[in-house]
Amino acid sequence: MEHKNVIKKLLEGNQRYITGGALHPNQSFEHRIELTKGQKPIAAILTCADSRVSPEIIFDQGLGDLFVLRVAGNVINDMFIGSLEYAVEHLNVSLLMVLGHSQCGAVDATIKGGNPPGHINSLVQAIKPALDRLKKQSPDWVNIVAKENVKIGVERLRTIDPILTARYDEGDIDIVGAFYDIKSGKVSLTV
Ligand SMILES: [Zn+2]
Repeated sequence: MEHKNVIKKLLEGNQRYITGGALHPNQSFEHRIELTKGQKPIAAILTCADSRVSPEIIFDQGLGDLFVLRVAGNVINDMFIGSLEYAVEHLNVSLLMVLGHSQCGAVDATIKGGNPPGHINSLVQAIKPALDRLKKQSPDWVNIVAKENVKIGVERLRTIDPILTARYDEGDIDIVGAFYDIKSGKVSLTV
């Protein structure tokens, strides 16, 4: 599916979810059997591990529809990049989305600073460039930093050689940023 149509399909699904008209598609026994032939997801979505941000639910999609990667703070590492390259090269996914969200705990921890225990610090370090790039604190600060973190992720994915940048420059795929508001349920495109 062409990436413009994928974005449209996801936003339409999000609208159904918000308005209480979710269809819960592709979750039947028959569909599961159909999927034994293989998967053809329409999009790859990198988002936060936050339990309130489940892509299949908020976009009203089902099994086999979304190739989902999740980690606290939706940060990017080499294994995620490899997974996204696989989705593009082998599953013909035409849309990559980095999806941040409101009230993100990982972003909040980054803003609070200090030295979080254990490996939590590696998340904070990965999100810190977003905080550093924004000069002045303002109202709604956690969400502003979260959006900047999405922007950094998108910018990075667009320039990753050899697969993603080439396919993006050719217009084969689109790489977009989006933000999910936990209260309204709405997903907005940001980058
Ligand atoms: Zn989060």
